[in-house]
Amino acid sequence: MSINQSGWRPERPNAGGQGTPTHTGNKALMLEERLIFEIGTDRTTGVDFAAGDVAHDRLGGLTRKNPIGLPGLSEPETVRHYTRLSRQNYAIDLGLFPLGSCTMKHNPRLNERIARLPGFADVHPLQPVETVQGALGVINELAFWLIDLTGMHGVAMSPKAGAHGELCGILAIKAALKKRGEGHRKVILVPESAHGTNPATAAFAGFTVEDIPATKDGRVDTEALERRLGPDVAGVMITNPNTCGLFERDMKKISDAVHAAGGYVYCDGANFNAIVGRVRPGDLGIDAMHINLHKTFSTPHGGGGPGSGPVVFSEALSPFGPLPFTERHADGHITLVEEETFADRHPDSFGRMTAFHGQMGMFTRALTYILSHGADGLRQVAEDAVLNANYVLRSLEDVLDAPFGHAGPCMHEALFSDDGLPEGFSTIDIAKGLIDEGYHPMTVYFPLVVHGAMLVEPTETESKAALDQFIGALRSVAERAKAGDAGLKSAPHFAPRSRLDETGAARKPVLVWKEPVLVAEAAE
Ligand SMILES: *Cc1c(COP(=O)(O)O)cnc(C)c1O
Repeated sequence: MSINQSGWRPERPNAGGQGTPTHTGNKALMLEERLIFEIGTDRTTGVDFAAGDVAHDRLGGLTRKNPIGLPGLSEPETVRHYTRLSRQNYAIDLGLFPLGSCTMKHNPRLNERIARLPGFADVHPLQPVETVQGALGVINELAFWLIDLTGMHGVAMSPKAGAHGELCGILAIKAALKKRGEGHRKVILVPESAHGTNPATAAFAGFTVEDIPATKDGRVDTEALERRLGPDVAGVMITNPNTCGLFERDMKKISDAVHAAGGYVYCDGANFNAIVGRVRPGDLGIDAMHINLHKTFSTPHGGGGPGSGPVVFSEALSPFGPLPFTERHADGHITLVEEETFADRHPDSFGRMTAFHGQMGMFTRALTYILSHGADGLRQVAEDAVLNANYVLRSLEDVLDAPFGHAGPCMHEALFSDDGLPEGFSTIDIAKGLIDEGYHPMTVYFPLVVHGAMLVEPTETESKAALDQFIGALRSVAERAKAGDAGLKSAPHFAPRSRLDETGAARKPVLVWKEPVLVAEAAE
């Protein structure tokens, strides 16, 4: 019934001729790790309890007949299991994380320290408002700075991620149109250079999505957009800086045209890191924009950490934003404006998006980040992020095709394509080769407007030495591809696993573990 533990050996893909497979399957400190159900069984236990008195059974016929099936492990076995798994992750605390459109930057330890102060970490959202004045003060002050930095009029703090913020903004637009009696405006225009969550959000909110093409320079085709505006258009969703890593220079012109045609302008501001302190979206005529606190104002977010996507609103849209929000009174006292108590004060709100007020831990981190950087520090964040990305772009454009390299400097990310790689080699080979060099690959095959895209976002927190090493690694892999190095086709060679069937994993995911049936048993 159980698998033979001592003789169990992971199936080893031959590591491309690199070294001999070991007895354990481990490669020095790179340890194989089985699932916790495979290490422990329900017949082993980490704790020996004395048999208790037979309790009177009050469950009627509902008593469990079989063991629950949880693996019993000792404390050190459990600790080792999770520690080994944690070592298989790549993390921003291990090395440069070049994922484009993600802003994987260093998270100052100061933020973590502040977020863990018991007065912030141990509060409960259902506590009486009088007992959490400090926490509400953090939310209120952060809201103030977000409005200040964006030049907007109001802000909704509760959305819990970028995509959730998009939904918030689009629902506010929907509510505003309804109030105007123009609920028939059903079309949201989304340029090709927008982030993928934009069309998904618009469709989810019940709008029809129409594409607007990009120009040769990777920016919105303003003329095509203006031609499409009309009485059925609810608004546009524009990512700025866009997913080609470029600033949409015509944003004000676009906003004016959309407003003249009766629509609203949603801006995807997830990449605010590249423009914070330099550009105020409010000056560009934007009506709603989410800010990814977890990208611009730090917070560990790779691998499923929490997000937070506050949405700033123009004066026209502010009344339609969600509840709850904080309000500071002249005496410094802060109240929460909620539908139960203040419906008459905020009658046009589209309602509530989340159970509570938002991500408290992230608010604390973001405010710490803003206050510790100051206005000049935040401006320098944007400048250094852009400088670093341009350094990567210009350092590699002789070996990798840079489709918009001709269109001037990039913003926070450098975009390359697989154009010019020899027959049989593509972006995937470059990405897999980078794994052998000890880097998490950059974003690949996105944005879709570019064939075989490779999107590199170094962020402002990398030193020149770190960038030079990364550039050296990427250059070496690109040169190997150009020289037709067949070894690259089966990279990575040094990782615990080589190429996985990613399509199979996505299309036919195996989400439930089943105890393997022993060959001998299966034959019985
Ligand atoms: C990251 C990102 C999003 C989505 O943000 P989430 O917090 O992951 O939901 C949307 N748009 C752009 C441009 C992004 O970079």
